[in-house]
Amino acid sequence: MYLIAKKRCCPSDKCQSKRMLEESSYFCSFNYQTYANMSVVVNQISKLYGQQKALNNVSLSIKAGEIVGLLGPNGAGKSTLMKILSCYLPPTSGTAHIMGYDVQLQSVEVRKLIGYLPESNPLYQDMYIREYLDFVADLHLLGNKKSSRVDEMIQLTGLEAELGKKIRMLSKGYKQRVGLAQALLHDPQVLILDEPTSGLDPNQLVDIRSLIKNVGENKTVILSTHIMQEVEALCSRVIIINKGELAADNSIQHLQSAEGQEQVYVEFDQPVTLALLKTVPDVLQVIKDRDGWILCSKEGKDIRQQLNKWAATHEVTILSLSKKKVGIEESFHRLTQMKS
Ligand code: ADP
Ligand code: MG
Repeated sequence: MYLIAKKRCCPSDKCQSKRMLEESSYFCSFNYQTYANMSVVVNQISKLYGQQKALNNVSLSIKAGEIVGLLGPNGAGKSTLMKILSCYLPPTSGTAHIMGYDVQLQSVEVRKLIGYLPESNPLYQDMYIREYLDFVADLHLLGNKKSSRVDEMIQLTGLEAELGKKIRMLSKGYKQRVGLAQALLHDPQVLILDEPTSGLDPNQLVDIRSLIKNVGENKTVILSTHIMQEVEALCSRVIIINKGELAADNSIQHLQSAEGQEQVYVEFDQPVTLALLKTVPDVLQVIKDRDGWILCSKEGKDIRQQLNKWAATHEVTILSLSKKKVGIEESFHRLTQMKS
């Protein structure tokens, strides 16, 4: 791996400027042990638009094959990060690598490896679908594979019935399919999809989601959205960005379990005090809620049996006892409002 990396990073025709040579020697000493199996590595990226700080010291890494949801309120910096990863914008500071290639120094290699669907899905409105996909295939130098790949993508994204139309005549859902088809044409290993379902009606939404799930099976996918259900439906991991900073990076299960906590809701037949409830073994926090109480414990610690024993000891009857499922939505609100 190290030898391959060394070979890649020293083509003298690519290293023209002094800065590039300096950066290239940094690249040669890159620690590949740390980056092995990583599709995407973002290291202390910051981005300033004039005085506006869009990203502040963001670091993350994504393994090959992961489907990661990039979540955050509008203006959080999601699109900026995606533009940097797709070589569309340079960062102000920090580095990013896709499969070991630096997005700034080796952008041609990076662009061969990524498929990018930008937020605005820019398409040539006056082209027919096949005409547009042929054009994109030429940009990717697909040569004699062009015709079969275009056919394959048309079939995969379900565009056959619309081939007689110019892109401007297509519904938003079909335009998204064309956007996905162009992102997939060169069979990239990493897919970067910026709000791929925004503005779609519920049927189109289901279609595009299942398409993404389908095509994402053998790829690394980074998908931005502000729809929580989308992340739950598609992703195994969530990265939350808030005001340009990383607010959370966890598995879906972790966010669903109130970020490392289990919660149960309980109602008793008689008044009990908060102090007494705190004596239930393994309870970390007690919150009064409607006619009952919420008891919090550590992730993976189900306190329901102990609570029953505790109730028997204290001669109170439990009228209602249920595990509280904390939605990812709740976690999102808490994490993105902490710094407002
Ligand atoms: P998101 O995709 O999460 O909605 P963006 O990355 O588009 O967020 O934007 C992050 C911040 O950077 C926002 O405050 C936005 O207004 C600002 N911004 C984005 N693009 C530009 C630009 N070209 N010039 C100036 N400010 C920008
Ligand atoms: Mg955006």
